[in-house]
Amino acid sequence: MIGSSLPVAPAWFRRESLAGGVTWLDEPHVAAFARCNIWHVRGRDRDLLVDTGLGLASLQAAATDLFDRPVTAVLTHAHFDHVGGAHEFADRRAHPAEATELAEPQGFAGLTAADLGSDLVLQLRAAGYEIPDTLLDALPHEGFSLAGYRVPPAPAAALLRDGDILDLGDRSFEVLHLPGHSPGSIGLWESRTGILFSGDALYDGPLLYDLPGSSIEQYVPTLERLLDLSVSVVHAGHDPSFGRDRLRKLATDYLALFRA
Ligand SMILES: [Zn+2]
Repeated sequence: MIGSSLPVAPAWFRRESLAGGVTWLDEPHVAAFARCNIWHVRGRDRDLLVDTGLGLASLQAAATDLFDRPVTAVLTHAHFDHVGGAHEFADRRAHPAEATELAEPQGFAGLTAADLGSDLVLQLRAAGYEIPDTLLDALPHEGFSLAGYRVPPAPAAALLRDGDILDLGDRSFEVLHLPGHSPGSIGLWESRTGILFSGDALYDGPLLYDLPGSSIEQYVPTLERLLDLSVSVVHAGHDPSFGRDRLRKLATDYLALFRA
């Protein structure tokens, strides 16, 4: 059975506390392409969670100290690597254009190259991603079956549109609709601190703009909008965080590519 020779990971998530009341978590045993950043933001009255990973192990159980108060989970978009753990959070929110996929996951998903399908794998490899036959190098628990992986349905409890404000009591984030990577991709922007959670609209790695549901036409105004933000730090859906100069370089380069 594929993956059955893999060891069991002693801990599934790793985490680090960052400046600004932000905690970063991810799933280190997942291949880079499907390993999303998970962000937790502490607020006075409630906390914010941005994306949830693949859902292979309980995020709540792994970080009980973070989830001991009310939390709003925002899904930046409905790709499987971001929403697998969403079902664990009752107050989960997303853009209307991602709502159907969240409620009834039917898009690409899988823990093996075979499950992703050869067309997608070719596309991802062409974009510069290494796609191993098995996307895990360890199992979340004994007896875990890679072939049995499904994204649990997690219908949104509320919908988020451009301009909506998420108020945590002492800080607030504005919802930015940033389509292009997916139709309902959103970012969260805290103008007071310059913190931007960008999801997969912009990260410091090969952007994916020709997936099912992607649109270069929509991506252009998204990147133009991001160029104008006075960010202090971008906490993205993948890869390390970066600052304004890097944002400008990435957005400018992709705009040139898209306009060519
Ligand atoms: Zn994505």
